[in-house]
Amino acid sequence: MENIIEIEGLHFSYQSEDEEEEAVEVLKGIDLSIKQGEFVAVLGHNGSGKSTLAKHLNAILRPTQGKVTVNGIDTADDDRIFELRQSAGMVFQNPDNQIVSSVVEEDVAFALENLGVPYEEMRRRVDDALKAVNMYDYRLHAPSQLSGGQKQRVAIAGIIAMQPKCIILDEPTAMLDPQGRKEVMATIHRMNREQGITMVLITHYMDEAAQCGRVVVMDKGSVVLDGKPEQVFSEVEKLKSIGLDVPQVTELAWELRRAGYDISPGIITEDEFADAVERLFSADKQG
Ligand code: ADP
Repeated sequence: MENIIEIEGLHFSYQSEDEEEEAVEVLKGIDLSIKQGEFVAVLGHNGSGKSTLAKHLNAILRPTQGKVTVNGIDTADDDRIFELRQSAGMVFQNPDNQIVSSVVEEDVAFALENLGVPYEEMRRRVDDALKAVNMYDYRLHAPSQLSGGQKQRVAIAGIIAMQPKCIILDEPTAMLDPQGRKEVMATIHRMNREQGITMVLITHYMDEAAQCGRVVVMDKGSVVLDGKPEQVFSEVEKLKSIGLDVPQVTELAWELRRAGYDISPGIITEDEFADAVERLFSADKQG
């Protein structure tokens, strides 16, 4: 598969208003490639640079040094910024800040109208996008009457209607209740599976990261771990040393392993843990 995102030697510093003050480097040389169709979680402690990295993927920010390419478009290329933002949509934490219209379907159509998409095609794309996020029945509702999870799904529909290759979600569930979190996670996993849209999910929820195909962990502006969830979560000590908690079952399995039990590292789901414990017991019985 081809790389949809290529980040090479990315350094970034926020320039302070005060010229005397020295700029602090927030991203310190990031190299990262993401293939079309991948579902990648980006984990890290507050302030590790996750949002700053995400904002480089649709040119809200530009590298101080290095290069970022998305769908073959260099984010520093001013002439292709619209094309870039159609390929890579962004969903933010606060659903209320992303809603621009007083009717759900108008909200989803907003960006398409600005792009000058013909009416018939716009109608079809808006309906398809609303159906894809299970919000079609609410198309004539006012967004203000929706729950947080429903609003986030409308925001996601607005992006899907642009037919992007890639969606970057910056803590999209942080302000939602458990039901809303579940709905949003299920929606983006389905979009990834069925439409092959690449997902980059910034999160601080371990359980959300555990559901992704790949987990990238950031600390102080660098990528410190990158791999499948079971690989990344088997690095319990390293994760703890950078202030991240591992899923509870992972920690429990790790403690058992440390105590000498034959239990595999990198257990991330309750089912896996239950299986492993069952195996321990049955081995015990036989032995
Ligand atoms: P994360 O998303 O992992 O919490 P951020 O990318 O938001 O991390 O922040 C990384 C660092 O950059 C932090 O130290 C933060 O204070 C700083 N920072 C973020 N936004 C700005 C800004 N607009 N101006 C100056 N510094 C910023």
